[in-house]
Amino acid sequence: MSLRILVVEDDREIRAWLQSTLSVEGFEVRTAVSVSEASALLRHAPPDVIVLDLGLPDGDGVDLVHEVRKHHTLPIVVVSARHQEAQKIQLLDAGADDYLTKPFSVGELLARIRVALRHRGTALAAAVTLHALDDLRIDLALHSVQRGGETLHLTPTEYKLLARLVRSVGRVVTHRQLLADVWGPEYTEHTHYLRLYMGQLRAKVEVDPAEPRHLLTETGVGYRLAAV
Ligand code: CA
Repeated sequence: MSLRILVVEDDREIRAWLQSTLSVEGFEVRTAVSVSEASALLRHAPPDVIVLDLGLPDGDGVDLVHEVRKHHTLPIVVVSARHQEAQKIQLLDAGADDYLTKPFSVGELLARIRVALRHRGTALAAAVTLHALDDLRIDLALHSVQRGGETLHLTPTEYKLLARLVRSVGRVVTHRQLLADVWGPEYTEHTHYLRLYMGQLRAKVEVDPAEPRHLLTETGVGYRLAAV
């Protein structure tokens, strides 16, 4: 059975493009042009994945994310224009899985959808505990971080931060989420902690900390541990 995607997008051209390209990829695509239409579809025929545009005619994408999260754990990938950064953060904190900034390629969208689906699957089965890419190898079960076969010595906070990113590998994690999970809920405004520790981590993990290959910055939003 093919996976069902609900595309919520009011722009006719983008909607038609997403519908045709995602259908070609083997997804069963349904579309909605507004929050209310999407809500109705969600009640009657919940999809496996939602691709959600920001800026809908009858409401805010955040409301839809909140509503979906009341009943469903299905992945939500947000697509937005570049100037909608504050909204992107709100959406991620509300429970959206990831976002893409327009214009994006079908390849990028499919990669985000795949990662989000994989996380849903692994969240139900077993959490991600092993991450290996290039010369970097992180094994959370063994509490081990290696680069090129050499063990890296991380402080407890550096390790916690890295481990948090491993659990969401391939996905953006907002500053707020990282601060809450690593330092605690009362530290969500202390973004300077993150900058400091991310600098330290990059100095240990990256071959060239100025050109990070693993610990990627999502400007104004958060960080992402590269999956590929
Ligand atoms: Ca729109």
